[in-house]
Amino acid sequence: MIYLDHNASSPLLPVAREAWLDAADRFPGNPSSPHRAGARAEHALEDARHRLAARLGCQAADLIWTGGATEACATAIHHAALAAEPGAVAWVGAVEHPAVRENARCFFAGRVEEIPVDARGLVEVGWLRERRRRERPALVAVMAANNETGVLQPWREVRDWCAAEHIPFFCDATQVCGRMPVDGLGACDLAAGSAHKFGGPRGVGFLKVPATGEFHALLRGGKQAEGRRAGTENVAGVLAMVAALEWCEARITAGEAAPRAAWRDSFEAAATANLPGTRIVGAGVPRLWNTSSLLLPEADCRQRWVVRLDKAGFAVSTGSACASGSEEPSPVLTAMGISASEAGRAVRVSAGWNTTETEWSALRDAMERVWAASRATGGSGGPE
Ligand code: PLP
Repeated sequence: MIYLDHNASSPLLPVAREAWLDAADRFPGNPSSPHRAGARAEHALEDARHRLAARLGCQAADLIWTGGATEACATAIHHAALAAEPGAVAWVGAVEHPAVRENARCFFAGRVEEIPVDARGLVEVGWLRERRRRERPALVAVMAANNETGVLQPWREVRDWCAAEHIPFFCDATQVCGRMPVDGLGACDLAAGSAHKFGGPRGVGFLKVPATGEFHALLRGGKQAEGRRAGTENVAGVLAMVAALEWCEARITAGEAAPRAAWRDSFEAAATANLPGTRIVGAGVPRLWNTSSLLLPEADCRQRWVVRLDKAGFAVSTGSACASGSEEPSPVLTAMGISASEAGRAVRVSAGWNTTETEWSALRDAMERVWAASRATGGSGGPE
């Protein structure tokens, strides 16, 4: 099986596995315990906090550990909603992950406005300036990179604009961590990441929060993280996450992203040339080097591309649910003006650092075989 679904979850990197096993052996104590075993675990967490803070460009005290990005997003939005003036609104990007959209809907009940995106999937920064003449939001949430399309958002520009306007800014950086440099994220008021998207373990992540001032915690209980996130920390998970991030950042620094982007680009060029009507979502704007979102020909929901490719030995994902039946089309693609029937033909391919050029070529060949077989059976069949 060739695994090309890293935006859903990236397999554990050997370096993360080693760090996890090592930490599980060396730090059995609860970091809050008063004995030396506890102190050693606390010290290891503190070291990890400094290492991550150095990457993000913030203070170690600004970081709290979470159980992944969903918890980090919920914590950030919950805090912003409770810190807001009564009745204040949240502006949330139209292509945000449900971890942001659903929590905004919940905590800013009835007070969420969508920042529109253009046909390429980029948030319209001009909308912020225009809207600001009429109102002042309590939170602006714009992700760093989209999970379905890989489109990179102008989060640095939005961050700086929010800072100048003294409006709290939250960046869900889940898909960018480990793939693009993360420096500058620490300058966001709130920023979230998740280990399993870049080769760390599942169920561990981080949130950058303001170190000073009142913080409205979501998880309450023990006094961990200065009361900002209660619950015994996942020491081994945190150490494995930071090891994975450092490993990925070394690949970025070594310039290994550019050739990988070129492999993805030739795959897309072949798909658009050989599979009639194929369209690349987000073509022409900066995207993550690992992601390709394609609207493929032929919309037979019973024989989706994903199923056919799975049978051919490739794990890829739908960019959206099938347009017919009970499933709704992807809100991301809908926000980009893509029709429900087109969205039903979306396939997302997402590679990892260890994906090879040969694997991209093998996928290209498999897609051409699937297409040829489907043509031979009148467009609704395929290799069973
Ligand atoms: N935000 C984005 C952009 C994501 O892609 C995901 C996962 O798909 C999440 C948040 C949620 O992450 P987790 O699985 O760590 O809760």
